[in-house]
Amino acid sequence: MTHPFDLTGRKALVTGGNTGLGQGIAVALAEAGADVAVAGRSSAADTGRMVEAAGRRFAEIKADFSDPSCVERVVEETVSALGGIDILVNNAGIIRRNDALDFTESDWDDVMTVNIKSVFFLSQAAAKRMVAAGRGRIINIASMLSFQGGIRVASYTSSKSGVAGLTKLLANEWASKGINVNAIAPGYFATNNTEALRADESRNAEILGRIPAGRWGDPKDLGGAAVFLASDASAYVHGTTLAVDGGWLAR
Ligand code: NAD
Repeated sequence: MTHPFDLTGRKALVTGGNTGLGQGIAVALAEAGADVAVAGRSSAADTGRMVEAAGRRFAEIKADFSDPSCVERVVEETVSALGGIDILVNNAGIIRRNDALDFTESDWDDVMTVNIKSVFFLSQAAAKRMVAAGRGRIINIASMLSFQGGIRVASYTSSKSGVAGLTKLLANEWASKGINVNAIAPGYFATNNTEALRADESRNAEILGRIPAGRWGDPKDLGGAAVFLASDASAYVHGTTLAVDGGWLAR
């Protein structure tokens, strides 16, 4: 009998999978059996080695999601490298910090383009293939700021709150077409994205003091949620944003 979490033979595209959470997710999907393509701006050679060490095929696709016009090509290259696209993980994201009174238009536009506009259009491009295949999985990477307001991150909060809403909208439109659209909301994870917070002694202590698990998340901590949402085990899960946060939201 096949294990419901088994991803053998599935083809996954992970955006921004060269480092941080995307790398953790790419490797977890490979360890569960999926072949993996990673799309991003920087070399994903490390991720490639880890995916291949798990015995799976790996492809690297150059993409800059600050220009959403690349999305069709990214999906086409994934399909030609791996032979299909069953799973899309919209992970690539950026953050800009400034007081709301001083926040610039470029810090607004840059974040909104990568974190929400490209997420929508890449999902649309992938879903066209998935609808034709009659099945697919889309996993968006949301944030605690899909639920909370945060501070000094106006465009990031707006984009990640948008990701949670978009996840529900796409689930409503595509569930009947065999596509499960869900999101994962990571809590506070030790990656480049949170380097500034961890370097600030008082913010670091404040954050750690609020996490019931008492530690920053490790990218490996996201693997189980990603495999679950990519697999048959979550066949009846649609439109949800699953927090993986060491208990942060329960506080
Ligand atoms: P990271 O900075 O280590 O990784 C971000 C990834 O996105 C990198 O691979 C980067 O190259 C890619 N990327 C950024 N802009 C891009 C562009 N224009 N085109 C292509 N790729 C681009 O950060 P991370 O923490 O691993 O973040 C991954 C995702 O998780 C992001 O969406 C982030 O908002 C989200 N997130 C992170 C945390 C955390 O605590 N680290 C918490 C909640 C959500």
